[in-house]
Amino acid sequence: MTVSSDLPLDDLVQPFRIDPFALRGRLVRLGPTIDRILSQHAYPEPVAAMLGEAITLSVMLAGALKYDGIFTLQTKGDGPIRLMVADVTSSGELRGYAQFDKQRLDRLGDGTMIVPRLLGAGYLAFTVDQGSHTERYQGIVELIGATLVDCMHHYFQQSEQFDAAIRVAVGAPRRAGEAWRASALMLQRLPPGASAADEVEEGWRRALALMASGRNAEMLDPALGPNDLLYRLFHEDGVRVFTPSRVRAGCRCSRERVERVIRSLPTAEVEELKVGGRLTVTCEFCNSGYEFSEQDLAALRRPDA
Ligand SMILES: [Zn+2]
Repeated sequence: MTVSSDLPLDDLVQPFRIDPFALRGRLVRLGPTIDRILSQHAYPEPVAAMLGEAITLSVMLAGALKYDGIFTLQTKGDGPIRLMVADVTSSGELRGYAQFDKQRLDRLGDGTMIVPRLLGAGYLAFTVDQGSHTERYQGIVELIGATLVDCMHHYFQQSEQFDAAIRVAVGAPRRAGEAWRASALMLQRLPPGASAADEVEEGWRRALALMASGRNAEMLDPALGPNDLLYRLFHEDGVRVFTPSRVRAGCRCSRERVERVIRSLPTAEVEELKVGGRLTVTCEFCNSGYEFSEQDLAALRRPDA
């Protein structure tokens, strides 16, 4: 395997295969993209970290499915974090947000920020939307386990589509000048083909052990390129890498979309939402604000608008 310096090191999905063990995998590396998405909101750190895990998982799972449209991962629970949504388009535009109850979050105090405490009882669901007139792929699993990764493993155990294992690392900025980073690894078993079943079973266990042997600091290290990390973990087993795909922070909101929503609302409801004669609509995903004056709103209400 050669490592070329002009390859991107961040904000990518790097597919790979370990042929002797009939395995394929993906490494997700998120740098400026995850930092931008999480920094657009002033989330308390436990919320940002949990959303970071959800966003990274969405990139990982989206990479495992062939689709042309939008992949959405969502959690809903009765804990302090009520809702998280992350979505990624097949062209690699990524976004996400969380809704949480600050008072309930504050009451948690310190301690480990695990799924049962932060999200409570609920579910994690993902869907692939390829537009109307196409079938939606949907997976759903209860929030069981300490981390979202544990919940996904629970899903994999029930799933016929995925025979897989994942790990996710999310790193919060610890000093001035540092940024959020995230990384994920997924190993997926392929039909064994010509290889002997024993060898493949042994290879799966070995690959899982190697995946677990990587430290979070290595997964998040901006100086350690994705191929170098894969080589460090799997070089003895003949890892082969393929062309990576890029992801970037991107939102699909626009003034036109907001105008469509306003037009669909009853006038009385729009009036109630106004503050000081103006209506401000904020996109939950990217925190962009769209302002509408009385004149703007009157123009929207005209039948020919
Ligand atoms: Zn937006």
